[in-house]
Amino acid sequence: MVAEKVKQLERENILLKAQVEELQNLCGTTASVPMNCEYCRNFIQHYIKIDAQYSPICSGHCVAGKQTKSRRTDDTCKAFVRKTYGRNHI
Ligand code: SF4
Repeated sequence: MVAEKVKQLERENILLKAQVEELQNLCGTTASVPMNCEYCRNFIQHYIKIDAQYSPICSGHCVAGKQTKSRRTDDTCKAFVRKTYGRNHI
């Protein structure tokens, strides 16, 4: 009974590995992040201070042109510009 369950799990594992490999081939090994405000260069993250530590919340504001109003991290727009994390872009 247990041996049969282990064999079934091994078959599922082989199938899942093949599916992951296929997805990595389709999307690349570093799948791109969504085009949400959270990953946009124009998004300024807002934080909450709890005790002595700051934690990001799911909102912020946009500094792109006229859209300076409050934005949620999962919002987006056509002016999205992917955030870069290089030394000169912090
Ligand atoms: S509203 Fe548009 S430009 Fe502004 S942060 Fe969100 S995606 Fe970027």
